[in-house]
Amino acid sequence: MIQTILLKHRPKGRPKLSDFEFTKEDVELNIKDGELLLETLYVSVDPYLRGRMSDAKSYIEPFELNQPIHSGIIAKVLESKNENFNSGDFVSGRLDWKTKQISDGKGLHKVDPNKADLSAYLGVLGMTGLTAYLGLTQIGKPKHGETLVVSGAAGAVGSVVGQIGKILGLRVVGIAGTDEKINMLKSKFGFDAGINYNTTKDMKAAIKEAAPNGVDVYFDNVGGPISDAVLFNINRFARMVICGAISVYNNTELPKSVSVQPFLIKNSALMQGFIVSNFENKFPEAIEALSNWLAEDKLAYSETIVEGFERIPQAFIDLFDGKNMGKMVVKL
Ligand code: NDP
Repeated sequence: MIQTILLKHRPKGRPKLSDFEFTKEDVELNIKDGELLLETLYVSVDPYLRGRMSDAKSYIEPFELNQPIHSGIIAKVLESKNENFNSGDFVSGRLDWKTKQISDGKGLHKVDPNKADLSAYLGVLGMTGLTAYLGLTQIGKPKHGETLVVSGAAGAVGSVVGQIGKILGLRVVGIAGTDEKINMLKSKFGFDAGINYNTTKDMKAAIKEAAPNGVDVYFDNVGGPISDAVLFNINRFARMVICGAISVYNNTELPKSVSVQPFLIKNSALMQGFIVSNFENKFPEAIEALSNWLAEDKLAYSETIVEGFERIPQAFIDLFDGKNMGKMVVKL
């Protein structure tokens, strides 16, 4: 029995379970020369998938209606007629939300369960780790002694950004949505300070207090009012990495924000959008740095692992309620 999850409707506002459809097929999958039969083990759910569910123009094609959704997946090779893979290998790649599927091997990479937990290849050693490392180093250009503020700090990308900031010798301030997350940032990931944006009335003042020397690098995962408050605290020559804007992904109207130009001019500051796939030539450097820091125990990671194929859509929706600490992953 093969189960698949299709995009049934383009979500209007916040995604709902009824935007997804489950199908079941009682078929036998037979591979041809060059192909592999894969069994899905771990599925990554990510905020950026929300953008692909709408048909607005973006840097990546929208998902098609009534077709399987795809995302980062770790799978086991059950059978191989492809010379690059053997049965029993574990692979990572962008694959369909299916319990089993056939692949031609293109875009798949072998992953080693002896070097790291398989799920880590979707997070700290996968797309979100690459995003953290490359966004921070290529656009944030952090310097020892500076102050880094990270929003969405307790998530997959943010928690790694903050730790890299500490490794590079910066003061690191994290913004997240619960006290439990703020405690984790400080106790597990070594952040210097944390701000719970849900209980803080004056974000501008809270950022000023947590970053008394001002903000040199802002790694933005959320956009909206949190990022507006950071703008009031930036230093001259500040760099702002615009990586994500989850606070507005479900908006049905254009968001209202403060006008950024005066802040940029006054401070000779830089604000630049970031897409991880633009930096593919730097993936090997990033993976090497992240793997070394992990092996040296300089880098830790958290995961929220939800079990069951049928829970993939809900796990995705839960990202918008901050139900995850670290990387949200579904285990089959
Ligand atoms: P996370 O693990 O950070 O999960 C999402 C988190 O966002 C939630 O846990 C929640 O935490 C927070 N959140 C949800 N709604 C809001 C809101 N309204 N305001 C503030 N915070 C909110 O996800 P990722 O680490 O995978 O992704 C982080 C960001 O980076 C996303 O915006 C994503 O789209 C972007 N991204 C961009 C990439 C690129 O190449 N540009 C690549 C990968 C990710 P809390 O409890 O703190 O609210």
